[in-house]
Amino acid sequence: TFIVLEGGEGAGKSTQARQLSIWLRDEGFEVVTTREPGSTKLGMRLRALLLDKEQTGMSPRAEALLYAADRADHVSRVIRPALRRGAIVISDRYVDSTLAYQGAGRELHVGEIRRINEWATDELVPDLTVLLDVPPSAGLARLGGTTDRIEAESEDFHDRVRSGFRELAESEPERYLVVDGRSPQEEVTRQIQRRIRPILPD
Ligand code: C5P
Repeated sequence: TFIVLEGGEGAGKSTQARQLSIWLRDEGFEVVTTREPGSTKLGMRLRALLLDKEQTGMSPRAEALLYAADRADHVSRVIRPALRRGAIVISDRYVDSTLAYQGAGRELHVGEIRRINEWATDELVPDLTVLLDVPPSAGLARLGGTTDRIEAESEDFHDRVRSGFRELAESEPERYLVVDGRSPQEEVTRQIQRRIRPILPD
């Protein structure tokens, strides 16, 4: 079972990933929690390049391809092997992050980015994607003073990313759960649990 958490900055993805993995391990499942970018040796080097974009002056298409390269390695080295063993995989970000950030955010063609990523992932699609939806101002405020290159993006950029995620969720309601990320953390966890329970293996 492959579960993905998506959302903008400060939406609470890593907290929810942790809560879900504790719950699922308690239920007796093998759980692999992972994240993008940067979950393999190559991925860690790509992450350093990607988050250091100001230094490299990377063009949007190059950025999209490096995220896809990170994801290809992630799928083949971490996610697929874990799924094959029967583990539940929880990933903090996946293809929809790229459609939202590099597609909607950088205003590249979303259909083209989707095709590149279908190839990169050999068409691995999550069983469930949880969108933790928060207004960008609330998410950035929650992160406090930490600034990396993305937090230096314009307000418009973050608004486009948020709309991008919401459109993806609306276009595939059967694969998506949208949760208001401003709700109390325990309430968010409960909503996600309710949706995951029916898709768990026996
Ligand atoms: O999830 P996390 O906050 O660790 O992501 C690291 C950074 O990479 C974030 O600032 C996020 O905005 C950015 N990112 C991106 N495009 C992606 C995935 C992440 O710009 N496809």
